[in-house]
Amino acid sequence: MNKKSRSSLNIIVPDLELCPRCRGYGTEKPMLHEMVCGGCGGAGFVDQATGAALDPGISLVALNRALRRHRMIIADLRRELSKHPAEPDRYGELKTVMGGKYRGD
Ligand SMILES: [Zn+2]
Repeated sequence: MNKKSRSSLNIIVPDLELCPRCRGYGTEKPMLHEMVCGGCGGAGFVDQATGAALDPGISLVALNRALRRHRMIIADLRRELSKHPAEPDRYGELKTVMGGKYRGD
């Protein structure tokens, strides 16, 4: 099976870039009311090659993949953090005053 026939079996999400109209927020506020961005349809990104909004179905798949990627990055960072125990609280024995630690200075 060559690469071309394999790609037809998968959903292809084009390369994305932040929507230049809303700068990735997905909304715009031309006057007083906030509205869905007309440049990206609320996704916050557009097709990098054409600059056009994506089909809503493809947009959801792209958002899902981005969310999964970011969840994996967060899980990796949490694993990395757990390898380095936090520094002991050097002010732990001090009196708490108005929600803060009183250090005497
Ligand atoms: Zn936009």
